[in-house]
Amino acid sequence: MYRLSAEQQAFVDRVRVLAEAEIRPHAERVDEQSSFPKEALAALGRAGYLGLTIAPEHGGLGQGLRVACAVLEELAQRCASTAMVSLMHLCGIACYGTATNKTADLLRAAAKGEHLSTLAFSEPGSRSHFWSPVSQVVATNRHVRLSAEKSWVTSAGVADGYVVSSRCMSATNPTDTILYLALRGDEGIDVTGPWHGLGLRGNASAPMTLRNVAFDERRALCAPGQGLEMMLTVVLPVFLLGSAAIAVGLAEAAVAATQQHLTAKRLEHLGQSLADIPTLRARLAQMRIETDRARAHLASVIDAVEQPGPMTQLLILESKAAAAETAVAVTETGMRACGGAAFSKHLGLERLFRDARAGIVMAPTTDQLHDFIGRALCGMEPFQ
Ligand SMILES: Cc1cc2nc3c(=O)[nH]c(=O)nc-3n(C[C@H](O)[C@H](O)[C@H](O)COP(=O)(O)OP(=O)(O)OC[C@H]3O[C@@H](n4cnc5c(N)ncnc54)[C@H](O)[C@@H]3O)c2cc1C
Repeated sequence: MYRLSAEQQAFVDRVRVLAEAEIRPHAERVDEQSSFPKEALAALGRAGYLGLTIAPEHGGLGQGLRVACAVLEELAQRCASTAMVSLMHLCGIACYGTATNKTADLLRAAAKGEHLSTLAFSEPGSRSHFWSPVSQVVATNRHVRLSAEKSWVTSAGVADGYVVSSRCMSATNPTDTILYLALRGDEGIDVTGPWHGLGLRGNASAPMTLRNVAFDERRALCAPGQGLEMMLTVVLPVFLLGSAAIAVGLAEAAVAATQQHLTAKRLEHLGQSLADIPTLRARLAQMRIETDRARAHLASVIDAVEQPGPMTQLLILESKAAAAETAVAVTETGMRACGGAAFSKHLGLERLFRDARAGIVMAPTTDQLHDFIGRALCGMEPFQ
């Protein structure tokens, strides 16, 4: 459905083989222990997949969003935490790739699997309104300095690079922002809490604090006042489409688990399998339709991104809103279809059900996306 060329399909097939061998076996433990999926990330790094979207001139694999979405779906089918950590990395890398300052060394390191990136946007003061940080950089003699509370940072303490948002020095309103690159080990950066999520439990999406962290101008990823533009034009398409792909992967995995359970489990007293119950077959069919519909929608949004038109921005906003809700609905239907077996852990469905719920609250949340889309349709400014 992603309409991949033969070469792209072969690429995604290789990722599937790696994911089956090196990611799936750790997924249950990662969820159970809420531990960072380090084996999965090491395997992705060794195979060069941390350079998935990095240009070949920097040693990367030079793939675009179409292949990235197909890859993220494959990862999410096995371990959604690994997929989300990878997506946050792709978002960070997208910022490096368009940064005003040279980041070639970081791109080369990522392509070699030696640099993991992430985003540190959300703050307790503006919550899910990530486009309006309340922190603000201040000037000192040689540097700017930033003190900020970041409420959720995926790969906190593990990532090597953190794309950090703040208001710029001259800000006259909350969206006058700038993005800086913080590096693990910079003085004043700390992980300040644990990560115990309902789902995506391997994400390490913990809070971080920056205390008077010094940035020289080489660490600025954009010009003062251009932070919002970079968030909206560089980060948002990658994050929204990638989140949609992860949601589709979760739904696909739920279809597979449900199909397997219904066909394998028997009602011996009736001489039937669960699949002989029409209601359960109908639930499975509904899951299949919704999953295919979400993937087809995502593929059409990828088309629109590759050949932009007047509807492209709206479609990009739709992608995550549509797919995240589908993943919640499909995993919920799977839970019903598989009954008590799904309620326990051995089917893996309840992990998919919990992981899927993250998509609707990660910013922009489904509610916000609906508001942005509605505002755009009514000719109003979407971001306030
Ligand atoms: C697993 C996970 C990983 C994350 N990783 C990162 C990360 O790597 N980097 C990062 O910066 N952040 C990250 N976040 C934070 C995330 O992007 C959101 O900022 C966070 O989930 C918002 O939670 P909140 O309680 O602050 O929401 P609130 O802002 O308090 O929202 C509460 C409710 O209000 C609704 N709402 C808010 N504004 C509007 C509006 N304008 N219209 C309609 N409804 C609205 C929301 O939809 C929500 O239902 C992560 C979150 C999760 C769950």
